[in-house]
Amino acid sequence: MDNCIKRYFIITYGCQMNIHESEKIAGILTSMGYTLAENEKTADIVVFNTCCIRENAEDRAEGNIGALKKLKKQNKNLIIAVGGCMTQQPNFAISLLSKFPFIDIIFGTHNLENFKELLTKKLSQKKTLIEVIETDGCIYEGTPKKRTSYPNAWVNIMYGCNNFCTYCIVPYVRGRERSRKKQDIINECKDLIKQGYKEITLLGQNVNSYGNDLEDGSNFADLIKEIANIDGKFRLRFMTNHPKDFTDEMIYAIASNDKICKCVHLPVQSGSSKVLDLMNRHYDREYYINRLDKLKEVIPNCAVTTDIMVGFPQETDDDFLDTISLVKYADFNGAFTFVYSRRNGTVASEMQGQIEETVSQKRIMTLIDLQNEINRKQSDKYVGKTVEILCEDFDSKKNCYMGRDEFGKMVYFTSDKNLIGEFVMTKITKTGGMSLMGELID
Ligand code: SAM
Ligand code: SF4
Repeated sequence: MDNCIKRYFIITYGCQMNIHESEKIAGILTSMGYTLAENEKTADIVVFNTCCIRENAEDRAEGNIGALKKLKKQNKNLIIAVGGCMTQQPNFAISLLSKFPFIDIIFGTHNLENFKELLTKKLSQKKTLIEVIETDGCIYEGTPKKRTSYPNAWVNIMYGCNNFCTYCIVPYVRGRERSRKKQDIINECKDLIKQGYKEITLLGQNVNSYGNDLEDGSNFADLIKEIANIDGKFRLRFMTNHPKDFTDEMIYAIASNDKICKCVHLPVQSGSSKVLDLMNRHYDREYYINRLDKLKEVIPNCAVTTDIMVGFPQETDDDFLDTISLVKYADFNGAFTFVYSRRNGTVASEMQGQIEETVSQKRIMTLIDLQNEINRKQSDKYVGKTVEILCEDFDSKKNCYMGRDEFGKMVYFTSDKNLIGEFVMTKITKTGGMSLMGELID
């Protein structure tokens, strides 16, 4: 390898899954002798780990790739690599290269683990390397990881998705569901706890279907119970749950151990049964409410967060009002809200009745205002309470430490000591809208 190429910078778009994949790319680059650069200007290799779930993420990535043209002119040795789910779309690599001929490597979601081989190959050739294989992918164990989110550690339990929600591109770019072996996951978790990680977040597009493709009878409820039984003080979180597979067994598993956070991410997408059917979600409004009710019956204080989309094709004002009434009923502890984005190749992109942008914008603003109001009311109820939080980071703008309680609520507090990675007790003194201010209690 050329000795002067030694610093990397990774730009990540999208969700926790992608953040963790960037940790793998960073791990591979570190194993090759690279160190982290301060920014793209001081890097010898810049990797874009892209996302194509919504159009705006794609646009941002393309804008940022374009912005590197100048840098590449100044430094001919700079390597620019683009990977992630954007590049996995059919014919996308070629069109990307025609817009940005200065890209050096384009790699698909199934080529990530081979990044070392790709980079080594690229360093010995001039022309752009395009490696986007179109298999359903397989499972690689032992990829090095340079973790960036201590005291939390992300752990993949499965890859891909079989659900084909009609709006979603994920099944096309991530392949079919593949579960990791239970023992490999448990060993990774044990090792992380030994290393001092205090929170483990299990990742999968639909964690509740973990094990369906394995022949040993493993399922997600058993998996979380086994992980929670590992010695040591830590929190266990997971995402994402699919309501259709969110069984009573799952709910009792969450209730069974204090290490499993009483905080469930259960994306509803819409409160209208008609829209849910068009989305191919395999549940209706009543079923979702039934799952919420059961969860609250078994774990009354359980926090529930969600994903909601507005402006799906054929969504009428009445359908949107169904979403609003469901949000009020659910009293969600947080919601990621999205305007439907038309994705080429998906069933919904061909549907009649695409919704005007102005209508969608009005709906999303109404939804965001409602959810903010719900969260403010929930925050007010915290004042005066004592809560245990896991200190995650120091916020240099606010000049204080920050951490979350088990329900995911963010608390800011001051301390003379570095408490990152420690569980501490705080008394909540006031609210700052969504977040809380607290005082440390000895
Ligand atoms: N697998 C998870 C599930 O089923 O809930 C979510 C994965 S997806 C990365 C995260 C969220 O992005 C989805 O819950 C959905 O709300 C949103 N999303 C997916 N496709 C979208 C699209 N075409 N337009 C807008 N939002 C979309
Ligand atoms: Fe996309 Fe649906 Fe799969 Fe989630 S479950 S990744 S929304 S297809």
